Amino acid sequence: MSVPLYPRISVRPASAGSGIWCDEPVAVGRIVLEFDGAVRPTPARYSVQVGAHEHIHPDDGAVRTQDPTRFRWRFLNHSCVPTCRVEGRLLVALRDLAAGEELTFDYNATEWSMAEPFLCTCGACGGSVVQGFAHLDAAARAQRSGWIAEHLVERMAHGDA
Ligand SMILES: [Zn+2]
Repeated sequence: MSVPLYPRISVRPASAGSGIWCDEPVAVGRIVLEFDGAVRPTPARYSVQVGAHEHIHPDDGAVRTQDPTRFRWRFLNHSCVPTCRVEGRLLVALRDLAAGEELTFDYNATEWSMAEPFLCTCGACGGSVVQGFAHLDAAARAQRSGWIAEHLVERMAHGDA
């Protein structure tokens, strides 16, 4: 009997739109899902930045698929205190998660500058505008040291962030 690669997850209604929850416990460091889709050099409302000039979009490019098991990651909500981080094209648990916890990541820790900024309702930040790492001050960046995407770390190391 083989252990499934990914934990079972569900897309359900959230306070605004939808969200994703884990249906079983997830150990810290476990890969929760892989971001699949078309890679383009520019961001859009539902894209996730996975490289310096790589934004993964929830579609197949020219052909829009109706397969509901694909691109579920587009329902992942932002949190300033996320339960997961993005490593390359993988979503990874930041800590041990209980069954029924919402899967979130920090959009400010993947996006350099967002196509569509919005007001955060995570409850932890007091309602900040989420618009990307470029717009964070030094304190806000330091808060995210545990889950900043590698391409943003590299950008800071090169002194252009
Ligand atoms: Zn917040």
